[in-house]
This record gives sequence, structure tokens and C-alpha cells, in this order.
Amino acid sequence: MNDFLTLSTGQRMPVVGLGTWKSAPGQVKQAVLAALDCGVGSGKALRREDVFVTSKLWNTKHDPEDVEEACRTSLAHLGLSYLDLYLIHWPMAFQRGKELMPRRDDGSICYSDTHYRDTWAAMESLVDKGLVKAIGLSNFNARQMDDIISRARHAPVVNQVECHPYLSQADLLSYCRSVAVCVTAYSPLGSGDRPWAAPDDRILLTDPRLAAIAQRYQKTPAQVVLRWHVQRGVVCIPKSVTPSRIQQNLQVLDFSLSEDDMKLLESFNCNQRLIVPAVERDGKRVWRDAEHPHFPFNDPY
Ligand code: NAP
Repeated sequence: MNDFLTLSTGQRMPVVGLGTWKSAPGQVKQAVLAALDCGVGSGKALRREDVFVTSKLWNTKHDPEDVEEACRTSLAHLGLSYLDLYLIHWPMAFQRGKELMPRRDDGSICYSDTHYRDTWAAMESLVDKGLVKAIGLSNFNARQMDDIISRARHAPVVNQVECHPYLSQADLLSYCRSVAVCVTAYSPLGSGDRPWAAPDDRILLTDPRLAAIAQRYQKTPAQVVLRWHVQRGVVCIPKSVTPSRIQQNLQVLDFSLSEDDMKLLESFNCNQRLIVPAVERDGKRVWRDAEHPHFPFNDPY
């Protein structure tokens, strides 16, 4: 098992990265430094090519006129001259402008009818200009991916989607394999710190079935889950601001899970999406963007 996976562009992408969503501004810098220390070694001079940096294009920046500026803004914030990978965050476009969540008076989101196909063409120009080494997708379903791939000059190299044992994504994974798109698992540990977690929600990392497997390998539950991801060819980006966990999460290449345990983890699947933005409507919790014509999760995968 290698530390890297080769993308369709020939770039080498680490199989385990670091996620930063929810990391407080005061914590994210030391988390990144801790992760870099694990990867490169403390105090060693770090070259730009030693690090793989991914960022995403937000929903209000889908208009082809806005894509380059949005990318340049991210580059400026990061102090970089190029990104290794730039993703369209969601297939749905929101109304253009400075507001990240443009809303009407009644609280509903103002959508835009910009098609992700047109956004993709603008993303391709970023590769031509050398601002990004590769481009990809996030939260796209197989039909939408196919729509892009069939027209692309630069094919998407990655689809970053929610994936963990409670949402194993077997069908999307096999589609992605067939078109040479790497799947990156977001919320790979089940996102226990997601802000909308309800007190009675099941927590993946404390699932007793997982604890039993972890005990057999003398590994932590998180290491077993991350190992499951990489062993099925999925890149993962666990978030942590805790240095000991950051280190632990990168140590998943020195053991392997038996075929039976891989299947056992696969059997946890209950197609449970934890990360879809939801709102209260008529007393019921519903997916906020389900009516958007490009909402991805109305398709089975
Ligand atoms: P996650 O990585 O599944 O889980 C993060 C939680 O697990 C945190 O509470 C963290 O705690 C804890 N944790 C991490 N390592 C652990 C370990 N070894 N033992 C025990 N607990 C551990 O959740 P996520 O942040 O939702 O997903 C990861 C990344 O995916 C995000 O940060 C973001 O970059 C990306 N993402 C992308 C999208 C998208 O739409 N493309 C959506 C969601 C997330 P501490 O931090 O306190 O250590």
C-alpha cells in the first residue's frame, strides 16, 4: 500500500490528507503545522512541491466570469502561486455576488441557473493558465459527472464526496473507477463534530462493532476506518486539530484489514447522509436545496 495515489494527470496525491472545516481560526495553523511535521519531519525545509493543496469554488462563483477571480482570491489567501487541485464545491449555483448565502426575505436561498457545464469550461481555463494543476468535482452524482466527462477538455481527476462506513458509496465508487476519477472521502470519520449533530444521532467512532475490530488490530477506531478507506482505494481527509490524532490518522499504512473485516465494515452501510444542508419546513427536517435542478442527491448515486 503506497502513501500516494496517481491521478489521471500523473500527479501524486497523498492517500490521507488533513481536513480543516470547523477548525477554529486560532487552531488551524498549528493543525496544519502538525500535519506537515508528520509528513516531512520537524524543522526540515519544505518545498512547495512537497505539499498537495486542494481548494474549492463556492456556489456563488459559478458564473464563468467569476471563476478565475475566485481562484486567485484563494491563492492570495493561501500565499500560493498555484493549487494542486481545485474543485467545484457543489453542482448547484447560487446567485452571484459577495454574499456567501444569498437569501430572500423568507430565508430561502437565491439560486442561479448557471449550468455546471459552463462553470467547468471556466475551470479548464485555470489549468491552461497554470493557476491549478488539476480540476475536479465535489458532491456530484454519476450522471452529472458523466455530463462533464463527455464534454471535458481537461477531465475531472477527483470527486470529493461524503463517505464513511454509514455511507459507503459503493455504486458511486465503482462508477468513478470505471472513468478513472479518484474518490476522496469527506467526513471520513463520520463528522462527529458537525454543528447540527443531534444528541441521539449514532456516532461512528463509538460504534461498538468498530471498537471490536479495532481491538483485534490494536489500533484506534479512527485508524481502522481510515485504513478501510485507503484499502478500498479511497483518499481521505480527516479533520483534526489535535496533534496526537493528526499523527495517528497518518499512521494507517503499517497494517491491513482482512477481507472479512473489510466486508464487516462495508455492512455498516445504511446510506446515511450526514452533511446535506437541511432546514425545518412544516415541522419536518428536509434537504434545503432538494428543489434545485442540479441538486445531486435525488439520484440514487
Ligand atoms: P471528520 O474528519 O469525519 O471528523 C472530524 C471529527 O473527528 C472531529 O471532531 C475530530 O476531533 C475527530 N477526530 C479526528 N481524528 C480523530 C481520531 N484519531 N480519534 C478520535 N477522533 C478524531 O469530519 P469533517 O470535518 O466533516 O470532514 C473532514 C473534512 O472533509 C473537512 O474538514 C473538510 O475539509 C472536508 N469536507 C468537505 C465537504 C464538501 O462538501 N466537499 C463537506 C464536509 C467536509 P478534533 O478535531 O477535536 O481532534
